[in-house]
Amino acid sequence: MRVKMSVLAASTLALFACGEKKAAEEPAKKEEPAKKEEPVKEEPVSEMAAKVARFAPVEIGVAEEMIPEKHRPLIAKLVEAARIMDQLFLLQVDRDNPKWRADIAGDPALADTLALFDIMYGPWDRLEDGKPFWGEKARPRGVSFYPEDMTKEEFEKWVAAHPEQREAFTGYFTVIEREGDGLVAVPYSQAHADLLGPAAALLKEAAALAGDPRLKRYLNSRAAAFASNEYRQSDMDWMDLDDGDIEVVIGPYEVYEDRLFGYKAAFEAFVTLRDPEDSAALSKIKELLPRMEAYLPIPDEHRNPHRGSESPISVVEVLYTGGDTRAGVQTLAFVLPNDEVVREKKGSKKVLLKNVAHAKFDKILVPIARRLMRADQVAAVTFEAFFNHTLMHETAHGLGPGRIEVVRDGKKVRTTVNEALRELYSAIEETKADVVGMYLNYMMVEEGLKPESFIDNVYAAFLGGFFRSVRFGPSGAHGQANIIQFNYMTEQGAVIRDADGRYGYDADKMRAAVESLAREILMIQALGDYDEAKAFIEKYGQMPERLRRDLAGLTDIPTDIRPSYPVERQMERW
Ligand code: ZN
Repeated sequence: MRVKMSVLAASTLALFACGEKKAAEEPAKKEEPAKKEEPVKEEPVSEMAAKVARFAPVEIGVAEEMIPEKHRPLIAKLVEAARIMDQLFLLQVDRDNPKWRADIAGDPALADTLALFDIMYGPWDRLEDGKPFWGEKARPRGVSFYPEDMTKEEFEKWVAAHPEQREAFTGYFTVIEREGDGLVAVPYSQAHADLLGPAAALLKEAAALAGDPRLKRYLNSRAAAFASNEYRQSDMDWMDLDDGDIEVVIGPYEVYEDRLFGYKAAFEAFVTLRDPEDSAALSKIKELLPRMEAYLPIPDEHRNPHRGSESPISVVEVLYTGGDTRAGVQTLAFVLPNDEVVREKKGSKKVLLKNVAHAKFDKILVPIARRLMRADQVAAVTFEAFFNHTLMHETAHGLGPGRIEVVRDGKKVRTTVNEALRELYSAIEETKADVVGMYLNYMMVEEGLKPESFIDNVYAAFLGGFFRSVRFGPSGAHGQANIIQFNYMTEQGAVIRDADGRYGYDADKMRAAVESLAREILMIQALGDYDEAKAFIEKYGQMPERLRRDLAGLTDIPTDIRPSYPVERQMERW
């Protein structure tokens, strides 16, 4: 699972300051307060250039001296292997992609088209639901995972008639091809042998260079999986990589690219460094979890002291990515593995990509905040606060009611919040994570872990982050959760729109609003109250019309970033 679009929670541990990005860390302060008028575009740009401009170019990496010398040869191997994942994904999207790309690249007049093709990994615009921007071909729902003329019905009929093939057909790691009059499931190891072979060889060379035995094991078992098509053991081994300097993910993972069934995994890679300071701060949070649970604004009988944190969190700096994750909107965070059997045995791991978050903060969030927020409050929108919100949001997911007891037809029944709230669960749970995450900052201040002034940064990060996350409408649970908070805070007088169209927060009213919203949401969960959840979402979950108009004026601010990776330059010197 991954998060691309939505803003994760954003709180503010000063502990998370990241050495190498100091300059970017004092963002809004130095900037001129935003002008009311929109900047005038000097010259008309072509339609294609405008599409490319939705993605702000940015370098994603770390300064060379931050990459420990002893790891450099290994990292270079991993980057080479990741480039192969990139080639594989391009072929998964369409087998003709390399040929089309060569055609476009051959015409100098198509430079913008080529740039867009590279962003989108094919001729279809991922921000416009796959509309073609080059050529006429419509994007097949199952891209190259299935024969283009195969219907869902044909697939299902085949599987019903050949039950012994069901597992292979619906599995993550096969492509479906035609064979005579029938269908056949071909393992990736066979269908992509020409590229997986060299990728496996690189991973084995990387493993030989690895000092950490757990990393060595993952790289070797993943290399073996490329040949055997059996990925489970290597997913298990990946879960054991929970500290150490290098965090790497490579192989077929997410199934979003398969819009026909959601079965087939797309190739991708993340080559990243774990930040020791961030890891220390995270283990500090872990220690505080029992006290955080006790701090929640609900009666003791609804507390959940035994919940624990199911999934470890890693904070990393991206050096290189390839494949699926690099197409269109860039991943901010992911939770892997997806294999339920592994999740059951070993849990899952959340990985937050800090420098990617920083780039989105600088290129998108701050420009939006400058346009829509009170000038004096924009200054309080810091990356530190934004990233802290992410950590606190993730932490808050592990707190509060989980397994609960409800009364149904006069009988006490044991259930879970998820089961009781059904389709409303995600929106309520995301609201909880945000607002409880904010609330926990009061505790951090009381504990002396944050200065009191930090609370202003928390509020500013909330408001600034809010505008970014609902810019394209309240899509999905995160977007809806944001709207709920905004409307609630507005109702409480804690968020205000000034006469000049700028938004601000009233710090005096904020705390009461945060606390009462946290309590209301936690109690809906504690009681498993579906009707109350529905009424709450109906009351607070609508996008205000005026806000929609305010957001509509932001078309010149990029939608996302377009990364390039300095490590490619750096490794030429190694
Ligand atoms: Zn969440």
